[in-house]
Amino acid sequence: MLCCVSQYPIRIYGDPVLKQPTQVVDDIDASIAKLAADMIEVMHKAPGVGLAANQIGISKRMFVYDIGAGAKVVINPEITESDGQWTYEEGCLSVPGLYWPIVRPKRVHLEGLDLDGNRVSVDAEDLEARVFQHELDHLNGVLLVQRLDEDQLREAKRELRRIAVGRR
Ligand code: ZN
Repeated sequence: MLCCVSQYPIRIYGDPVLKQPTQVVDDIDASIAKLAADMIEVMHKAPGVGLAANQIGISKRMFVYDIGAGAKVVINPEITESDGQWTYEEGCLSVPGLYWPIVRPKRVHLEGLDLDGNRVSVDAEDLEARVFQHELDHLNGVLLVQRLDEDQLREAKRELRRIAVGRR
């Protein structure tokens, strides 16, 4: 059931690496560029609109995304502002096949670095803002299921158990 590309299967709900906050990237060197390229490949093959490094087991603070305008990489990202409110049916490659309506801010401002070490500064809204918030959660060790309300979680428990057991 795992999606496998080269040596990087996507880590699934229940894997401890998904719960650990990732490490800040100190040196943006060739290994980081290679990792970003591999992450983009995994994301596209899944397919998904975003992927955090710890979703392939690498505990580094970086993510890739592609909402239809080409793949981009953001290193050491931070959300510095957010506002509004938007409910969106959100899923996650690490919680495959399950989606929930999740309320989050509609707009965010994201800061980070690109592969050349240049500053990235993006005002995002709707899907792009949603992806940024979702990937930032991953990098902080937070999974989508931690965003569920009590009713959603109660309903989801059996499915989540199935996913966590199925991966062993
Ligand atoms: Zn996810």
